[in-house]
Amino acid sequence: MSVSLDNLCVHTITTKPWGLDTAARKYAAAGVKGMSIWRDAAQAFDGSIKAAGQMVRDEGIDIVSYVRGGFFSALEASDRQKAIDENKIIIDEAAELEAPLIALVVGATPGQSLFESRQQITDGIAAVLPHAEAAGVKLGIEPLHPMYADSRSAVTTMAQSNAICDAINHPYLGIALDVFHVWWDDQLEEQTRIAGEKERLFAFHICDWKDQPEDMLNDRGLMGEGVIDIPQIRSWVNASGFSGYEEVEIFSNKYWAMDQDQYLEMIKEAYLKTV
Ligand code: ZN
Repeated sequence: MSVSLDNLCVHTITTKPWGLDTAARKYAAAGVKGMSIWRDAAQAFDGSIKAAGQMVRDEGIDIVSYVRGGFFSALEASDRQKAIDENKIIIDEAAELEAPLIALVVGATPGQSLFESRQQITDGIAAVLPHAEAAGVKLGIEPLHPMYADSRSAVTTMAQSNAICDAINHPYLGIALDVFHVWWDDQLEEQTRIAGEKERLFAFHICDWKDQPEDMLNDRGLMGEGVIDIPQIRSWVNASGFSGYEEVEIFSNKYWAMDQDQYLEMIKEAYLKTV
């Protein structure tokens, strides 16, 4: 495969010290073609959300996804309703940005079973999907690594994600596959194939799992720095029919402390080595 940056997308959180306008300018100058915009970055922009989207496109950058919606589970029905209302606002923001997709971190609630949380998540997603469809914004369930099943995501595998998609069966609902979260799963190849067959693999996030991370949230590695076989997973993703942007999403206290221009060069270099 030829070495190219054509499919490279970077999440604004990856270069967190930069504001949205700086990130857009720097990504464009570096030849990065896509950007996934985190909600905090959009909200911190000096102007409307609509203007933020226009600014990014004016730099020649595609907006790949809006991050993030979700957190549908809660002990009280009134709180679950609040989550549905909040997700409708997030969908409206994505529409203003003209982002085609929202990544969902679906939630998990201590004090009830993961089964119960998953049922509430299914109900919550079903409740917002008509709003998403009307806005022209798709929703991608992002299964998270089971270490986050306490309070962030009761959905930890592609199989669970596929099961929710099967239960709801809506063309605007699919899956965001992040290698950091699912690399260990012995069903990954099969479940990725199934997601592809059902035309629901909407996004592909990349980074690496370092051998002995110092922090379970904010010590992700650059591609090639850890134990994930990204070319293998990419081959399954591509075989499933996905050929869209590859989104670099790295939370790292270490990299956020660096010179971000230098870091962006490292991201490009690491990406090109894994293509
Ligand atoms: Zn991700």
